[in-house]
Amino acid sequence: MKTHAIRINEYGGPDVLQLVEVEVPELGPGEARVRHTAIGLNFIDTYHRSGLYPGALPSGLGSEAAGIVEAVGDHVTDVKVGDRVVYTGMPADSYSEVRNFPAARLVQIPEGVSDEQAAATLLKGLTAWYLLHHSYPVKPGDNVLLYAAAGGVGLLAAQWARHLGVRVIGVVSTEEKAALARANGCAEIIMANDDVPACVREMTAGVGVAAVYDSVGKDTFMASLDCLRPHGVMVTFGNASGPVAPFAPAELAKRHSLYVTRPVLFDFVTTRPQLLEACGKLFEVLGNGAVKVSINQRYSLRDAATAHRDLEARKTSGSTILVP
Ligand code: NDP
Repeated sequence: MKTHAIRINEYGGPDVLQLVEVEVPELGPGEARVRHTAIGLNFIDTYHRSGLYPGALPSGLGSEAAGIVEAVGDHVTDVKVGDRVVYTGMPADSYSEVRNFPAARLVQIPEGVSDEQAAATLLKGLTAWYLLHHSYPVKPGDNVLLYAAAGGVGLLAAQWARHLGVRVIGVVSTEEKAALARANGCAEIIMANDDVPACVREMTAGVGVAAVYDSVGKDTFMASLDCLRPHGVMVTFGNASGPVAPFAPAELAKRHSLYVTRPVLFDFVTTRPQLLEACGKLFEVLGNGAVKVSINQRYSLRDAATAHRDLEARKTSGSTILVP
C-alpha cells in the first residue's frame, strides 16, 4: 500500500522537506495502522529537520497526529479497527497520510474532543501537564515566569497554571501575542525585548518567581536565572533560540541555591499507565473548559515547509495543524 509522506534526506532549512510517495510497511506485531485526519506541528519537528536532534537519514518527520485505526497487527489489545486515536512519539513520521505505530502508544480520543483538537493538544498539553505537576509542581499563589506564552505549549500551560491558582507572568514578542496570552491565563505580560529580570522584580515586590519555564534556551537562560527567588527552580525545556551554553554551577550558588532541570516529555509518560493517566488529566481540563486549545494556523501537509518557516519566524501563535 502506498501513501504520501514528508521525507528528509539531509538536515537543513525547511527546503529539505519533500512530499513523496512511499510504501507503508507490513504491520508488525503490536502495531496499528493509523489513517491521519490531523497532524500536530511542533517546534521539536524543526530540531529533527535541522539536525539539532540528529537521527538516521533518510527520515520521516513529525511526532504527533490523530486519526482512525485502519488495521491492527498481531497481539494488539489496546485499540481496535475504527477507533479514533491520537499519539505522540517516535519514530518521527506523523507528517504522512497513513503510518504504522505501536498500538500501546495510541490513546482513544474521548467524545467531545475533535481529531484536530486532539492533534493540537496532546504533545503540547502533556508538556504543560508535566511542567506544572512534576518539573516544578506549582502551588496556589505561586508566581511563575513562562516564555513563549502565546505559543502552542504557552497558551495551554498558562491556562492550566491559572486553573491551579498560579499567577503567570508571560513573555511574548508582539502586542497581538500579549493580548492572546492575557486572554489565556497570563496575569502579567513582559515584552521579550524588555529587561525581563527587572520587570519580574517589579511585579513580585523584589522577590522573584518560584519557577521559570523557559523554552527559548540560548538567548534567555542566564536572564531567567536572574528572575528566580532563592531556591527557585529553572525549568529549561526548549531551544527555540538555540541550545543553552555550558554554565558554571556556581551561578546557582550566587543566586541563592537555585535548582535547574532539563526535562523531556517522554520521560514522564514511559509506560502505558503513565500515558493514560496523564492523558486523563489533560482530557479532564479540556472537558471541563479550564483549558481551551486555540488552533490558529492550518496548512496542507504539502505546505509543511511554509509551516516550519512561519513557526521559526515567530509568526504563529497557539497550535498549528497540518491537514493530510
Ligand atoms: P511555540 O508555538 O511556542 O513556538 C515557539 C515560540 O518561541 C515562538 O512563537 C516565539 O514566541 C518563541 N521564540 C523566542 N525566541 C525565538 C527564536 N529565536 N526563534 C523562534 N521562536 C522563538 O512552539 P511549541 O509550542 O511547539 O514549543 C514550545 C517550546 O517548547 C519549544 O522550544 C519546544 O522545543 C519546547 N518543547 C519541549 C518539550 C520537552 O519535553 N522538553 C516538549 C514540547 C515542546 P514569541 O514570538 O512570543 O517570543
